[in-house]
Amino acid sequence: MVCRNLCERLYFKTVFGKSHYESGKKYCRRCEVYYCHDGVFCSCCGMALRMSPTNKRDKEKLRQIELREEQDRIRAVKIPN
Ligand SMILES: [Zn+2]
Ligand SMILES: [Zn+2]
Repeated sequence: MVCRNLCERLYFKTVFGKSHYESGKKYCRRCEVYYCHDGVFCSCCGMALRMSPTNKRDKEKLRQIELREEQDRIRAVKIPN
């Protein structure tokens, strides 16, 4: 799993001021490029592409959802069927 520099030809050019994940792009941490394809893995190095949101607002939203799910799990344990 190494960068074969294929990403230089495949990567999607950065759109400034817009969230990459918003427009369905995926990020490879190893190649440090964004892709705009349906694959889960990087076409260049084979590493799993990152799809989760990175901006603060989306992160907070994600955290709230996780928190709620955690609370639901705790509640589900406490309440007998
Ligand atoms: Zn690469
Ligand atoms: Zn890569």
